[in-house]
Amino acid sequence: MVLYLKEFKIKWGMVIDLDRCTGCGACMVACQAENNIAPPVDASNKRYSLTWLLVYQLSNKQPYPNHDVAYMPRPCLQCGKPNCVPVCPVIATDKNQEGGIVSQVNARCIGCRYCMAACPYHARYFNWHDPVWPEGMEKTLTPDVSTRPRGVVEKCLFCHHRYMAARDKARIEDRDPNALAEGDYIPACVEMCPTGAMVFGDLENPEHKVHKLSKSPYAFRLLERLNTKPQVYYYSKREWVRKQGDNYLEHETVGGV
Ligand code: SF4
Ligand code: SF4
Repeated sequence: MVLYLKEFKIKWGMVIDLDRCTGCGACMVACQAENNIAPPVDASNKRYSLTWLLVYQLSNKQPYPNHDVAYMPRPCLQCGKPNCVPVCPVIATDKNQEGGIVSQVNARCIGCRYCMAACPYHARYFNWHDPVWPEGMEKTLTPDVSTRPRGVVEKCLFCHHRYMAARDKARIEDRDPNALAEGDYIPACVEMCPTGAMVFGDLENPEHKVHKLSKSPYAFRLLERLNTKPQVYYYSKREWVRKQGDNYLEHETVGGV
């Protein structure tokens, strides 16, 4: 199977402002709670931890007083040309026609983990254990999100169940489910971010903020040169942040800025 870029009428995407993100981790907590991710058996063992959204710390590596840091939340980037999709032997993951979200069908996954090896962003996780919640906590599970058993791969789906709920609401209200307004559908991490660093919407819709933000000279995508065309963009006015995020070399300039 060849990698090709499928164009969709609606392309859900995010622009994450790294100059606003304080690294508080509220987005990670919101993601865990919303998507029924069980607390890890041993949180100190990062190999076995499941965290669909991870916040990385970047540093300009300068001594005081020029020291500077940035925080980079990394969900699945919902690549336009996802490396994970063509390697899956059972089509358990695909590029969703409705919004370009990279899907993951747990009941199909055979746990071979080819997709994990193919993803350049380490955005996929394998269930080494059956999920276990502390007594009583199972009552807080999100009813629209299935739990995943041991032996399958899982990942961020831009809270796809919220998309389905927003479309259902539009139908009930006699609105077009394919023309959702900005704010009708928002993933849990975006809703919870206290600084408004995460902006979400349809990258193809000029009325949505992400459309303009993603075209800013300060916007960039992670490892742009791999040509995976992520639907998640980052934004920073600090050149060193853009350079590190995009893995540029010392002598290279970034986006002409
Ligand atoms: S681990 Fe599951 S989703 Fe990933 S390639 Fe294998 S079968 Fe497909
Ligand atoms: S970030 Fe990884 S898991 Fe997500 S679409 Fe891209 S290759 Fe697939």
